[in-house]
Amino acid sequence: MNAAATPAPKFATRFAPSPSGLLHLGHAYSALFAYRLAQAAEGRFVLRIEDIDLGRCKPEFEDAIIEDLAWLGLEWEQPVLRQSERLDIYANALKTLEQLGILYPCFCTRSDIAAEIANAGAAPHLNHHGPDGPVYPGICKHLSETERAQRIAAGEPHALRLDMEGAMKKAGPLTWHDRTRGEQIAEPDIFGDIVLARKDVATSYHLAVTVDDAAQGVTLVTRGDDLLPATHIHRLLQALLDLDVPEWHHTVLLTNNKGGRLAKRDKAFTLRAMREAGTDPEDLWAMSIRQIARQATATDGI
Ligand code: GLU
Repeated sequence: MNAAATPAPKFATRFAPSPSGLLHLGHAYSALFAYRLAQAAEGRFVLRIEDIDLGRCKPEFEDAIIEDLAWLGLEWEQPVLRQSERLDIYANALKTLEQLGILYPCFCTRSDIAAEIANAGAAPHLNHHGPDGPVYPGICKHLSETERAQRIAAGEPHALRLDMEGAMKKAGPLTWHDRTRGEQIAEPDIFGDIVLARKDVATSYHLAVTVDDAAQGVTLVTRGDDLLPATHIHRLLQALLDLDVPEWHHTVLLTNNKGGRLAKRDKAFTLRAMREAGTDPEDLWAMSIRQIARQATATDGI
């Protein structure tokens, strides 16, 4: 009997906001972008609430997200995935990485790291900057197993970091495909030994987003191009965790009229303010495109 060919996964996009503020025009553009692609391909569109940052995320912002997206006319698959409810899934992924021998506990405080970096001033080759700021100088990487075990047993708070060198050796050379930029070579080492489980919450953005895109069957990740560098890490984690690899489409980030990225203080750009001002939701796509065109003209003029 012939084995049946595995059917290709159904085309799926996602919108993955963090409920740490009200959605603005940039979010509307992202959400509509993903939704329209899914519709055009008769694919799936999923929603994920990225609420691992317990200090900044609030239930009222999650309610506002749902309201705003419904106002925009979007429909998404149920159930909505909420990251704060998935810590056991992330713990399993961490266990897999631990078994590969590429995770280590890091007991450093921010000031330990800053002091080490300041000391390394005399040895500037040790002072690397990555897309997220200074690269971790490796203080806890070389602790003995005994010291690690003792400090953990004593209840010292610790994060879990990826041993980037070991991880890249395990994964081998990797590439990923961006729909507008083409084939990209994965260079996760620009970040150094990133945190995959924080001291305050036993996961991190990078781990949660990678595990969840796979869990939700996302085949095309669409998001702002501020997150383009993060994709290097996500591609590595996919390889290490043996997850399906999607494509990516990193979109232009909408800015305010002064050229800064849209933020909560740009009140006029929030979807709630627009709704209250009587804006027709049908106009938001065109408004986003006009804003992007304005940005492009402003840049050309420099
Ligand atoms: N939750 C992230 C944000 O709101 C987006 C994550 C992603 O698209 O990968 O900025």
